[in-house]
Amino acid sequence: MKHKPQKPYLSIVVPFYNEVENVERLWHKLREALDEFGRSYEVIFVDDGSKDGTRDKLRKMAKEFAPLRVILFRANFGQSAAMAAGFEATRGEIVIAMDGDMQNDPRDIPVIVNKLNEGYDVVSGWRKNRKDKLVARKIPSKIANKIICSVTDVKLHDTGCSLKAFRGDLLRKISLYGEFHRFIPALLRMEGADITEIPVRHHARKFGTSKYNITRTFRVIMDLTTIRLLMKHLPNPLGFFFNFTLLAAIGGTISFVAILTKLLSPPVNPPELNVLVTLTVLLWATSFQFLCLGLVGKLVVDHGSRKIIHLEHFKN
Ligand code: UDP
Ligand code: MG
Repeated sequence: MKHKPQKPYLSIVVPFYNEVENVERLWHKLREALDEFGRSYEVIFVDDGSKDGTRDKLRKMAKEFAPLRVILFRANFGQSAAMAAGFEATRGEIVIAMDGDMQNDPRDIPVIVNKLNEGYDVVSGWRKNRKDKLVARKIPSKIANKIICSVTDVKLHDTGCSLKAFRGDLLRKISLYGEFHRFIPALLRMEGADITEIPVRHHARKFGTSKYNITRTFRVIMDLTTIRLLMKHLPNPLGFFFNFTLLAAIGGTISFVAILTKLLSPPVNPPELNVLVTLTVLLWATSFQFLCLGLVGKLVVDHGSRKIIHLEHFKN
């Protein structure tokens, strides 16, 4: 076996939630494909709080098979959380993500890795011939994909395909939350990643059931709003907050001018003056706070971009 315990070339991350019939079958298919590929590897199976015996199976398998590492969640935290935990544990130069339901095909791993080695940071699978239900899955997924592409500026045919390859160092920099696993390319684009796609095989689910229905599409679109905000304003937080700084400063100044006018034309009404003074102080203080937020944001972003320079160096 080509497996080395330290720093493998490939790390494969797979989340499982109630996939008792798939987990061992997938492992054997993976092992076959990876041994044939001939590069060192580790496989990280993450159990997302299954209740159907997947956990016990994983515990047993982890003892039996050396390149297999297992993470067990106490409860069901969702696919993104499971993937994030798996990614964090990876040590490989290249990280591959895929589903645990055997709909993705391990034989595509060499194809996707070779594509990455043409000089990309991310290669996303494209289920050109997708084997899922048309109305419940394929159509909503197509619509969601169109929206995601236009909003995030990452042009892929199939952002929802789990089979993806990443440069490990780049992937380990980002954090995932919500349903963010499908926005990983968008998040990595913000880090300056070169992204491409390649057609991959897709099989119908033979064992177990899909964990999602149409309501997921709505959650995905909610997360999209956050992503949009991040992508648009993250590069220039000072500019973003400066609008609010200006608005509050102008409001405060108007209120201050009102005080002066009142003082210059007696009789003065003390309660009215009180309100105006409070308002002026409040608005000016708010304006100053927004300015501080912008400056802190700028510091954080500048610090982040220093990391990107380091990454470029790593790429060469
Ligand atoms: N999954 C998970 N946690 C969840 C839901 C799903 O780890 O809460 C796993 C699931 O076991 C599978 C992958 O995520 O390996 C994709 O799920 P599924 O096949 O149900 O999604 P679909 O292919 O139908 O989009
Ligand atoms: Mg599936």
